[in-house]
This record gives sequence, C-alpha cells and structure tokens, in this order.
Amino acid sequence: MSTKKLTTAQGNPYFEHQDSQTVGPRGPVLLQDYLLQENLAHFVRERIPERVVHAKGSGAYGQFTVTHDISAYTKAKLFSKIGNTCTTFTRFSTVGGEKGSADTVRDPRGFATKFYTEDGNWDLVGNNTPVFFIKDAKKFPDFIHTQKRDPKTNLKSHTSIWDFWSLNPESLHQVLILMSDRGIPDGYRYMNGYGSHTFSMTNNENQKFWVKFHLKSEQGIRNFIDDNAIRVAGENPDYAQEDLCKAIENGDFPKWKMYIQIIKEEEAKEFRWNPFDVTKVWPHSEFPLLEVGVLELNEMPNNYFTHVEQAAFSPSQIVDGIGFSPDKMLQGRIFSYPDAQRYRLGVNYHQIPVNSCPMGYSNYQRDGAMALNPAGSAPNYHPNSFDAIKADESYQQKAYEINNSHVDFYNRNETDDDHYTQPGLFYSKVLNTEEKERLVKNIVDHMSKISGDLREEIINRQLCHFFRANIELGMKIAMGLQINIDANAMNHSKK
Ligand code: NDP
Repeated sequence: MSTKKLTTAQGNPYFEHQDSQTVGPRGPVLLQDYLLQENLAHFVRERIPERVVHAKGSGAYGQFTVTHDISAYTKAKLFSKIGNTCTTFTRFSTVGGEKGSADTVRDPRGFATKFYTEDGNWDLVGNNTPVFFIKDAKKFPDFIHTQKRDPKTNLKSHTSIWDFWSLNPESLHQVLILMSDRGIPDGYRYMNGYGSHTFSMTNNENQKFWVKFHLKSEQGIRNFIDDNAIRVAGENPDYAQEDLCKAIENGDFPKWKMYIQIIKEEEAKEFRWNPFDVTKVWPHSEFPLLEVGVLELNEMPNNYFTHVEQAAFSPSQIVDGIGFSPDKMLQGRIFSYPDAQRYRLGVNYHQIPVNSCPMGYSNYQRDGAMALNPAGSAPNYHPNSFDAIKADESYQQKAYEINNSHVDFYNRNETDDDHYTQPGLFYSKVLNTEEKERLVKNIVDHMSKISGDLREEIINRQLCHFFRANIELGMKIAMGLQINIDANAMNHSKK
C-alpha cells in the first residue's frame, strides 16, 4: 500500500485529524480550526435528493455483444455487424420504496441499461414487466402518490392503491402480473427486462418499424413466494444488492439475451390494440421475438455513490437508427427523466463519468453548477466563424404520419378501452393451476387490507374488473374476500 499524506480538500497537508484546536486543553474550540469546519460542512452535504421513484437500486458495468443481424430494421451502428460490442452500465431497482427499503418487496423492478455506443449513449430504461399500470404520463404523479406514503399516517395505504387501480382499469394487466409469482423476483439476476414502451427503428433505406425490446434472463426466472420474501426482508433487506455483488465478484457473470419484436408501419394501423399503449403487449405468436445479442454484467463499480447513485438514465437518450413512438407514457418520460436528473444531480449531470459519453460531445451548452466545460475557449454560440462543429444532416430522423391526425386532447376510443382481454389471457393461458392459486391468494391478502368507509365500494369496483377479465378469477377472489356474489350483478359486469 503506497503511503499518502493526509490533506485538506484543497490538497494542503495537515497533521491532526482527531482533536480540535482549543484554548487550553479544556477550553472552547476555535473558529480558525478550518479543518474541523471543512469536515463537518462536507459531511452534512453528503446526501443528494433521493430518486422519487426507483430510489433503492444496484448497478454494474458490463458488455453488450451483437449476436444476430437486425440491420434490416435499424441503421444503429451498434447493430451494424454481428460481433459488435459496447460497454454498458445497468441499474436495477425497486420502485415505490425509499433508498433504505427492503429488496424483496412486491413491486415492479426497474431494469435500465446505458449502452456507450460509438454514436453516443443509448439508454433502454425499462422494467421487469412488459406493460405498465397507466398509459398516460399525466396520471403518473397521482399513481405514484398511491404507491408511496399516506399524507396523514405516513404509512403505505392499501386503500389508496386499490382505490386508484379500481378507478383506472387500464392498470389491470400490470396488477395481475404484479400479483403473480413474478411480482417478487429472487434478486435481480433471475428476472427479465423489457423496454416496455414501443420505440421505432429506421434502417439504411429509411424504412421505419415499430419495436419492443425484451431482455430474457439466461439464469432463468426465479421468484420469492410471500412468506420467504417477508422473512428475507427482515433478515437481509439488501438481499438483491448482495446477490449481484457476490455473483459478479465470484466471476459468475449474469447474462440476458436481447430480443426485439417488430411491427411494420402498415401492420400497426391494422393491429387490434393501440400499438403505442404501454398497458398492452404484442402477442409473441403474431410478432415473434427476434434474437439480437447478449448483455453480460461483469464489473461492480468501485464506488456505489459515484456510479450507481449518480447514474442518470432517460428514454430520451436514443441513437441514430432508434427513435420514439407516440406512446403517451414514453412521451412523458422523455421530458420527466432528464428533468429529474437536473434536479437531483444538477444541469451538468451528463459530465459525471457514469453518464458521460466516452467520445465526448460538442455543442454550445456552457457553465451551470459543477461545469467542467470540456470545450474550453471554443466559441459558445452558433453559428460562428471559428469552430468546425457541423450539424450532420445524415442523422435527420424520418418524418412520419399518425392517422392523418392533428395534435389535440382526444377521447379514448372503444378499442383503446379494452382493458380486459389481455389480462384475461394472462390468467387463462399463461398461468398454471398452482400459479393461479398463488395469484388469487396474493390479491386476496393485499385487498383484504383495504380499510375505511369506502372499503366495500373499492372492493366491488375492482372485483368487476377481475370478473370482466375472467369469471373464474373474479369468483375466486370474491370467495377469498368472503364477498357474496349476486349472479345478476356479475352478468351485468360482463356487459
Ligand atoms: P405467449 O404465450 O406467447 O407469452 C406468454 C409470456 O408470458 C411468456 O413468454 C412469458 O414472457 C410470460 N410469462 C410466462 N409465465 C409468466 C408468469 N407467471 N408471469 C408473468 N409472465 C409470464 O402469450 P402472448 O404473447 O399472447 O401474451 C399473453 C400474456 O403473457 C400477456 O397478456 C402478458 O400478460 C404476458 N406476457 C407477454 C409478453 C409479450 O411480449 N407478448 C411478455 C411477458 C408477458 P417472457 O417470455 O418474456 O418471459
């Protein structure tokens, strides 16, 4: 171990780290002991704002390798050749809990990866579920309020959660997945990741495709059942962090295969669901998964705060060949994620090493808090006669038309309001008998904690949704909650 001199933050060597400077051995402390002040002042500024969602997380560096040719769909340089690789940084997280909350809770998991590509950084900021609770970002703050703490009791409120869900039936698909076995993954290695939103891809012929991304765990899927999750939350609330650290430190590098689903522009117009609705999947049978490559996590960062806490992801970070779609949740996140990072880390968050593009950047943004100003003395305005920065028109995105429409506030049409068919298929087709039983038990346990004057009203409203998705599912949950079902009411709910 090489010896270093102890210094102040300005590099001035100093000799005393234990005792403050005082007037006599028992006298008061002197204001001129600036080392004492520096230490105390820095200490009370160690915390930065916690992420309002996804506060508890784990992260690791890794590598993405292209194994299959998808250049027919995208001109993204990363995907131009089999064998291409790039460095990555992935952050996993729970969603609703605070930074110190337990890892083994029933909650979606964030699965965000930054690909440091030759065309700049590309962020795929998804979850471990292919769908989401709401399809419009306008509802997001209200939805998250119900997942956080009650304003009066400061407790999680099952009443608010189910009140919101029952008033927003578009949540049902995600609610069923959350209440199924996959609602509590066994750490982060044994779960899939999904880009969830619809994105677009453009190829070298300027043809446009709609795309969804899937990352399937090579470790397989493993979940906790409730009892074990509760036990582990008490014994080791940092279970998932420890699991990831140990695996990577032991050289057991976790891997995920990336797949895409593609819908052609013409097919999207015929699709029976809104292809830009994040509460819907694209059935595998109609839009098969196409293999793309493999993501391997192989390096734990040497400092958690520097790399994981300061990691800033945003779906707005796209690269040439990959673009957005009219998905309303995606559109909201394109604004909200960078906005959150500017609040949490400052306007120059892109200069923090984990977020910065390895090839650097060239533009006219300058100064602000913590600016490193890598452009130095170069002109800070455009156009100018001095620098050689050129806007490259070959990167221009193809214009596209959506239903010959105008921008407006549109009422949702009937097709978009089908919140029941896919959740029904999930229950009837995807889950086996034991999985169904556990799903029902999880929902019954969760809903039985709804309390207050509106308990009956909220339960009945949500039961109607379950019935509309699948009658057996509704019946079993009603029985579990000891609710008498009136056959007429049930038939009414099916209409
Ligand atoms: P498929 O039968 O082709 O796909 C079913 C998919 O469900 C599987 O491939 C798997 O996704 C996922 N799955 C399997 N078991 C569970 C479980 N216990 N909990 C949650 N997900 C599970 O049917 P469809 O494509 O027509 O989709 C039917 C339903 O499957 C959807 O409504 C959705 O709820 C669920 N699903 C569909 C996905 C899709 O992209 N089509 C992705 C994930 C879930 P995976 O292979 O990704 O592990």
